[in-house]
Amino acid sequence: MVVNNIDVYLREKGVKPSYQRKRIFEYMMNNLNHPSVNDIYEALINEIPTLSKATVYNTMNLFLEHKLIEVLPIDTNEARYDVFNPKEHGHFKCDVCGNIFDVNIKINVEDISDDLAGFKVDSEIYNFRGTCKACHEGRNTDQAI
Ligand SMILES: [Zn+2]
Ligand SMILES: [Zn+2]
Repeated sequence: MVVNNIDVYLREKGVKPSYQRKRIFEYMMNNLNHPSVNDIYEALINEIPTLSKATVYNTMNLFLEHKLIEVLPIDTNEARYDVFNPKEHGHFKCDVCGNIFDVNIKINVEDISDDLAGFKVDSEIYNFRGTCKACHEGRNTDQAI
C-alpha cells in the first residue's frame, strides 16, 4: 500500500492527524514486519522523546477502529499489527525466531471447500506456524523468542 500524503489519508479515514499519529502510521507503512506496541515504541522513542507506550497503544486502538490497521489473529504474547491490506494474505509464525511472515494465498475461497457454496464470505484468515526457512536450515542467528 502506498500513501503519498499521510495527513490527507488519516483525515479521509476520520483520524485527526497529530504529529505522533502520523509518525506511528508512517512507521507501520515502512515496517511490514507486524510490529507490536513495544516494537513501535522502541523504534520511535529516540526521535519522539515525548512518546509513551500508552500513546502508542491508544493510537493502535484508534487506527483499528478506523480500519487503518489490523491486529493479527495469530497466537503471540503481545498483539501484532499489520497495515490494512485489502488483498487477503495469510501469516506464518516461526516458533523459533518469533518472526511473522506474510504469505500470499493463491487459491480462491470457493476452491477451498464445497461446504462454503452459497455462503457469503466476508473475511478469510489463514494462519500457519512452524519453523521458518532460515531457522529450519540453521542459518538464523536471531533466535530471540
Ligand atoms: Zn524463524
Ligand atoms: Zn501481514
